[in-house]
Amino acid sequence: MKAAVVTAFDQPLEILEREVPEPGPGQVLVRLETCGLCHTDIHAAGGDWPVRPTPPFVPGHEGVGIVEQRGAGVTNRRIGERVAIAWLGSACGSCRYCIDGRETLCQQQQNSGYSIDGAFAEYAVADAAYVVPVPDGVTSLDAAPLTCAGLTTYKAMKVAHIHPTERVGVFGIGGLGHLAIQYAQIMGGSVVAVDIERAKLSLADELGAEHTIDAGSVEPVAAIQALGGLDVAVVLAASAHVFDEAFACLRPGGRLVCVGLPADGAAMTVPIFETVVKGISIIGSIVGTRQDLVEVFALHAAGRTRVVAQTRSLEDVNEAIAEVLSGDVTARLVFEFAPEPASTPVVV
Ligand code: NAD
Ligand code: ZN
Ligand code: ZN
Repeated sequence: MKAAVVTAFDQPLEILEREVPEPGPGQVLVRLETCGLCHTDIHAAGGDWPVRPTPPFVPGHEGVGIVEQRGAGVTNRRIGERVAIAWLGSACGSCRYCIDGRETLCQQQQNSGYSIDGAFAEYAVADAAYVVPVPDGVTSLDAAPLTCAGLTTYKAMKVAHIHPTERVGVFGIGGLGHLAIQYAQIMGGSVVAVDIERAKLSLADELGAEHTIDAGSVEPVAAIQALGGLDVAVVLAASAHVFDEAFACLRPGGRLVCVGLPADGAAMTVPIFETVVKGISIIGSIVGTRQDLVEVFALHAAGRTRVVAQTRSLEDVNEAIAEVLSGDVTARLVFEFAPEPASTPVVV
């Protein structure tokens, strides 16, 4: 099978021919149909963060495909079932976080495309208990961005506890941001969209944002304060200064939800006096649970969300990464795999 492999940080990915992996006990073998390119994959390939993956590894955590084999003991997934492989590759299932509904905080978790090989490949093995079934009303092209970009921003809006009529600032209208706008509105908020690219702001407008702010040409804090400020600010841009800007836009009682992950060493400046007297909450939000993803798929199947994505071939992975970094991609790029890959697994 073909796989896109990070062989060294800051080197182009290599398309390598690899053996189709065998599903171990509790695992399934998934033939990928699609996999989205999340900015996290670019951070992974660059070794940007304090905890680094170990090359060689296969990125990809927006994988959608068909279960082709089941390892020993797997009873909860069917051969032929369509499933999503998300960032939460597996967790211990028994710690306090796994038990109380916060499995993405499990300290024993494995992450697809980071600590274990992910879905930038024709086949991937995955923990059968952590793949999430994709309902019929969701295409594989739409399901891929929903598996991280959708899941993460849906969860970010949940932890923000948006009340109807509240104003939500979304900073960064990329893969995550275009879905964040929609979830904020579903939860009753009105949206102020902030980006530095005109095309992304046009999309935000199309998706129903009440205001759009071009941070490339106006000072975003002054512009948002002139509108009366924000109840919730969700930061999806990978630049530390955007967190400071978002904080400065909050009204009393405001919540800053931190989602974007700038490179190692980035810090935000939190003025203590304003935080205290304005009763500000600062919340970190990491992806979402399997149940959150079930809800994200259900909303999409019900026609409540729209995914904006363009397809690319896995062979063009390095060009696709360059496109994302240049700011030219309207929302999400998704690798689409041939329906019948040249290499087929040996069924045992
Ligand atoms: P993306 O590249 O598609 O989008 C980022 C957007 O930020 C782009 O539209 C870009 O134009 C915009 N931007 C850049 N500078 C800006 C500025 N100064 N002000 C406003 N907007 C600006 O990336 P993505 O895939 O949406 O991911 C965004 C970030 O979220 C990445 O750091 C990624 O690693 C992180 N992420 C976090 C989680 C989590 O669970 N916390 C999950 C997925 C991704
Ligand atoms: Zn656990
Ligand atoms: Zn992601």
